[in-house]
Amino acid sequence: MELHELNISSVRQLLLKREITSFDLTQVLLQRIEKFDGKIGAFITIDKERALEQAKKADEDIANNNISVLTGIPIALKDLLCTKGIKTTCGSKILDNFIPQYDGTVVSKLKKNGAVIIGKTNLDEFAMGSSTENSSYQITRNPWNKDHVPGGSSGGSAAAVTAGFCCAALGSDTGGSIRQPASHCSVVGLKPTYGRVSRFGLVSYGSSLDQIGPITKDVKDAALLMNVISGNDKMDSTSAKIDVPDFSRAFDQFEKNSLKGMTAGIPKEYLSVEGIDPDVEKVFNEAKKSLESLGVTIREISLPHTDYVVAAYYIIAPCEASSNLARFDGVKYGFRDRSTDDLIEMYKKTKSKGFGPEVQRRIMIGTFALSAGYYDAYYGRASQVRTLIMEDFSRAFETCDFILSPVAPTPAFKIGENIDDPLTMYLTDIFTLSANMAGIPGISVPAGYSAKGLPIGIQMMAKRFDEMTLLRAGYGFEQTIKLGVRCEL
Ligand code: GLN
Repeated sequence: MELHELNISSVRQLLLKREITSFDLTQVLLQRIEKFDGKIGAFITIDKERALEQAKKADEDIANNNISVLTGIPIALKDLLCTKGIKTTCGSKILDNFIPQYDGTVVSKLKKNGAVIIGKTNLDEFAMGSSTENSSYQITRNPWNKDHVPGGSSGGSAAAVTAGFCCAALGSDTGGSIRQPASHCSVVGLKPTYGRVSRFGLVSYGSSLDQIGPITKDVKDAALLMNVISGNDKMDSTSAKIDVPDFSRAFDQFEKNSLKGMTAGIPKEYLSVEGIDPDVEKVFNEAKKSLESLGVTIREISLPHTDYVVAAYYIIAPCEASSNLARFDGVKYGFRDRSTDDLIEMYKKTKSKGFGPEVQRRIMIGTFALSAGYYDAYYGRASQVRTLIMEDFSRAFETCDFILSPVAPTPAFKIGENIDDPLTMYLTDIFTLSANMAGIPGISVPAGYSAKGLPIGIQMMAKRFDEMTLLRAGYGFEQTIKLGVRCEL
């Protein structure tokens, strides 16, 4: 394998054996980005000089035996994460000139553990979308087939990992934005339990749904990054005061007794969702068989409120977004329209020019749904539905260890195919939204390819704070299917 293809664990071994330096590795990746990212569009900002400095420092640390988990490992960050001194745009023109004064908690943790931050990746503006077509800067193309989307909203991060531009990346997931692009790009994406990872320094989209998580080349790397980024943080009052296990122990459990004794539930409502692509169905059925061969018992379960998930999410998320985005008013941060002296006019013009069409649509939906007299009918009602969805999951987990499902109804669609039809776009989120609504963890693991060679993943979801089960089952699955196809750029 070539350097750019290696996962974190292999790179780490080479670094520790002094067979490569972080400086050379970082340079190889930067050259690769320079050569190929024009065709992919994964990065908004490439932090070349600082990355090389950090790599040099990592090499010194290795020479002095001052070694942490990520020393010298190049990692990319979704451009929704605040990075001190590096532009953080959120994919929006409104933050075109925003340079944070501080690092988000996960960024500090990565740095403390020696990571090299190679750049900031493209996303749907403020993480609103499923295709990375809603960025104000560029579209990102799927490295497996450049006529197709990489998924979204963390499409830049997923594309960067699969294209070999970095060893791993962080994304954020409000309704599927880590898992769905991971599935479309054949990489691993883990959305942790709500509260597992601090959101401090993650620009908020839907505060009760957002979670940061790893996008990696394999399941072991996801565990490794989870060990680094998890844990309570006094800067985020919603971060959970709960012990963080050593996630790498999940693999010992697998080595000991495979997946014997585990039960996977398949929601009967998911199989009758309209518009599931036959290739997705085929890969899903094969995945089911592979898990059975590892000793997993498969059983049918029911999530009776599945039909209401998309509608309830697309009330709750825009409501929270409209409130969170009120701060971008031309005064506090970023872009300001200076063509008028009238304050209200200035607000209007700033927001009309600064935000793209999808963000404006969501602000309008959210503002409408939260306006006086409507709260009970919309946000209140959607929150009640959300409770029913949570209860569906609690009941389901009484009879299974994890829930198995597709990640998305189809493989990556073509660029432009759904962009003028928001409703169709929203419906593609059907399998991923519930994990955010219920606050539970979910993982997407590569499972196969469509007839046209586009990647397809499977999703596993577990009880709150039971990422261990996902890592163990995901790892077991990954070991049996051994996907051998390479992504050629
Ligand atoms: N596609 C969903 C949305 O647009 C989810 C996005 C996300 O997880 N950030 O809201």
